[in-house]
Amino acid sequence: MSFERRNTRQLTVGSVPVGGGAPISVQSMTTTKTDDVDGTLAQIYALAGAGADIVRVTCNTVEAAQGIAEMMPRSPVPIVADIHFQYRLALAAIEAGVSALRLNPGNIRKEEHIKAVARAAADAGIPIRIGVNAGSLDKDLLEKFGGPVPEALVASAMTEVAYFDDVGFHDVKISVKHSNVALMVESYRLLADTTDYPLHLGVTEAGPPPGGLIKSVAGIATLLSEGIGDTIRFSLTADPVEEAKAGRSLLEYLGLRERTGLDLIACPSCGRADVDVIKVASEVNDRLTEMKLPIQVAVMGCVVNGPGEAREADLGLAAGKGKGHLFIKGEVVRVVPESEMVDALIEEAMLIAEQGTEARLAAKDVTAADLAQETRIELLTSQGDANDAERRRAAVADVARSGSD
Ligand code: SF4
Repeated sequence: MSFERRNTRQLTVGSVPVGGGAPISVQSMTTTKTDDVDGTLAQIYALAGAGADIVRVTCNTVEAAQGIAEMMPRSPVPIVADIHFQYRLALAAIEAGVSALRLNPGNIRKEEHIKAVARAAADAGIPIRIGVNAGSLDKDLLEKFGGPVPEALVASAMTEVAYFDDVGFHDVKISVKHSNVALMVESYRLLADTTDYPLHLGVTEAGPPPGGLIKSVAGIATLLSEGIGDTIRFSLTADPVEEAKAGRSLLEYLGLRERTGLDLIACPSCGRADVDVIKVASEVNDRLTEMKLPIQVAVMGCVVNGPGEAREADLGLAAGKGKGHLFIKGEVVRVVPESEMVDALIEEAMLIAEQGTEARLAAKDVTAADLAQETRIELLTSQGDANDAERRRAAVADVARSGSD
């Protein structure tokens, strides 16, 4: 299943297409000083490794622009220069060979400066993101609309678009970020109704995790599910590697990008669990995440419900009566002592990555399903019905019958 996407124009940031049906890209931003070339490149490599397709760096000084010139030939992903206030630094970044610019319309206001940057970007063949931010909106717009409301953010973006139109520049993507999730969502919906330029989604100043993650997911996923959005950034107060990981994971969970790593599903645990599910899931997560296997793995607290509930998973583990039951696509294939179950799961994950689930199902231990069934019956006999349904049904019936007509 996939979401139908809104039709947008396409541009390219370096080698990465954005819009026009291209895969939704993940962006992040470095936190280093851009004139620290080696430090910034190290962070760009870390971000690319964590799933960022495009990385933005601040270009706030001449030295930063010079740093970009040194980085460009060595960067594994396209670099975007972030420009506030000084349009000359946009021209310097273009001279440095940057892949794209981000301009904040609230901070560069003079029409002739904006047009000069657009002409230079056109000559260099690079796109510009019009990056409107509710926190730095032009004060005239704030007065006209009575605050940083969606109409004000979209008006700011479209004023900039009009300047670009005047000089024939259309290599544009737009963001209208707000720190309020509901207003962010409304701003992008309005923008999507107004223009067909590709959109860069984000909740600005979302803050540290977990709140920042929740806000970003709430805003970005809502819009993606409506088909709005061509590139995304989580703005977290955290190591930017966390932003890249979160962005990539969100797209994978929504089925908008192919899975590149682990998708761990785990039951929340309940009274039936025979092991510490949180501890086991956390160990499995740590070990398999490091191995970067593109596989869905389930950790389930009991064999009574586990294999059935997680039958979509490539591989799963269900505990019970001191044993670990490994299952593939819901079918129990091996039973091992509980003390060996995590190691056995990791080994099986590697074999599935090499051979595929069909081959591993064919290599199953034929006695495993019967062993699992025995454990299931033992557990049901000893634990009974965890929901206590029979007694409760009888109690409800008693009450119903005991009343007088
Ligand atoms: S799989 Fe078992 S332990 Fe986990 S929530 Fe379901 S019933 Fe409870």
